[in-house]
Amino acid sequence: MSDLEDLYREIILDHYRSPRNRGELDVPPAVRTEGFNPLCGDEIVVYLQLDDPAKGDDATVTDVTITGQGCSISQSSASMMSAAIKGRTVSEVREISGSFKSMMSVHEGSLEGGEPPQEDSGLSDPEALGDLAALRGVVKFPVRIKCATLAWNTLAEALSEATAAAG
Ligand code: ZN
Repeated sequence: MSDLEDLYREIILDHYRSPRNRGELDVPPAVRTEGFNPLCGDEIVVYLQLDDPAKGDDATVTDVTITGQGCSISQSSASMMSAAIKGRTVSEVREISGSFKSMMSVHEGSLEGGEPPQEDSGLSDPEALGDLAALRGVVKFPVRIKCATLAWNTLAEALSEATAAAG
């Protein structure tokens, strides 16, 4: 166990014990989406509010809250996600989400190919993810990847619902 792994574990546990942006928002104006991971029993509900959905990719996430229950990976990932995207524009959120998923997807793909998991991810700038980088260790446990990505898939639905509502 390296010092870095210890640090990552601390960050994950901190978000699990003291989740950021926990709660609900009024719907509307916020949108609400739910995600489930039957493999683990994780549940994530995302409430997302944009300043002006008509601005599309330039709209800003004015508020985001999370409810749900499940394992420490799923809940800490949701907490870190909410902290990372609040105040960002929709296009920035998509970028962060893409970085996070690429950190995970290298290994998600390798599940099917039967390749051994790689230690390093394709992430060019781990710093950009902040606390989320703590979850990179999850890739060593392929069944937990769906726990880590659940919040992000639920967020993606919320984003398309929020921007579609502008229509
Ligand atoms: Zn889980």
